[in-house]
Amino acid sequence: MSLHPDMLQQLLQASLGARQHSHSPYSGYAVGAAILDEQGRIHVGANIENAAYPQGLCAEATALGAMVMAGGRRAQAVLVIGPGPEIITPCGACRQKLREFAGQELVIIAGDPSGIRQQWTLGELLPFSFGPEHLSHKP
Ligand code: ZN
Repeated sequence: MSLHPDMLQQLLQASLGARQHSHSPYSGYAVGAAILDEQGRIHVGANIENAAYPQGLCAEATALGAMVMAGGRRAQAVLVIGPGPEIITPCGACRQKLREFAGQELVIIAGDPSGIRQQWTLGELLPFSFGPEHLSHKP
């Protein structure tokens, strides 16, 4: 799926705004995420770190939580924005979290404050993935 340039800009601006709310005092690595749901709505999240480090949440996870709580059940695209200059990608755990609400065609876009840097599909970042359909064939 290719996103309309206006939608890309909306996702970019939304994720930049979300990134401002990051709670990342330990790493100093602020991340924002914006998810486009099946109804064309945008849901945002930011990373939320914790003094007990493993309890921290990634931006994609908090954005997914916002989407689900708003009634969204399918992600069409997600834009993740980090500080740069390295290109950010969703961590392995987040790729799997996204897979719960999307198929291989999910568009994943990486950005930084300079703009959009790179784009993939979930199928490229999480090939041969395990998803809800695997559990739909009960004996
Ligand atoms: Zn993650």
